[in-house]
Amino acid sequence: MDIQQSPEEVARTESLEQKKKRMRRILQKLKKAYPDAKIALRYRNPLELLIATILSAQCTDERVNQVTETLFEKYRTAQDYATANREELEQLIYPTGYYRAKAKNIQQCCQQLVDRYGGEVPLSMEALVQLPGVGRKTANVVLGEYGKPEGIVVDTHVARIVQRLGFVATKNREKIERELMEIVPRKDWVIFTHLLIAHGRTVCTARKPRCEECVIRSECPSAPLFLSQLQPRTKGSSTKRSK
Ligand code: SF4
Repeated sequence: MDIQQSPEEVARTESLEQKKKRMRRILQKLKKAYPDAKIALRYRNPLELLIATILSAQCTDERVNQVTETLFEKYRTAQDYATANREELEQLIYPTGYYRAKAKNIQQCCQQLVDRYGGEVPLSMEALVQLPGVGRKTANVVLGEYGKPEGIVVDTHVARIVQRLGFVATKNREKIERELMEIVPRKDWVIFTHLLIAHGRTVCTARKPRCEECVIRSECPSAPLFLSQLQPRTKGSSTKRSK
């Protein structure tokens, strides 16, 4: 990787083999930095994870965990959700936002689990994405946690950091996922997301990345630009990247 290139240039010009090697080095460093990285949502079985993941759309994991503490005590099975009083369910999940749509999706999804899968959550991408309110990202979360990953979860932290690192030059989440599946070793698909989320929450934050203390800054084409913004500006100085 040429450190003088912008992340977009790196994403376009670095070969797949070089990207794979750089990714392996990055993973090694992140694993050391975040040895306990794991999913933040609390759940005890695939159904609870599915519900928690549906609720996590446009909501923090902390808030979802607060809501599910009560929710998971009240409703235990897919049948419980399918036959729940809609208004009661809406009230319980209200703090997670979009509560009407989420309640409707949860009930329709659970009805299908009852009708088609005996109340169990099917652990295949093909079946999961057929369920109401379940997209590829939600399916990836469930499959990843239950040892059957078929893709990589690309959330806001993952999307932001892989662009900054010059692995992809697109904001399209599906394209990002497809490209990452080529670059990240399959055995690391699940931990990769947890590591990037941990890094995104603590160091590579959206507004003010702390590149000066980042363990992967030597692998990151965005570091020179962000670090130059930290320098006190003198008259006539420029933060523009030199070509
Ligand atoms: S060097 Fe900066 S931009 Fe690059 S990954 Fe680290 S914190 Fe993020």
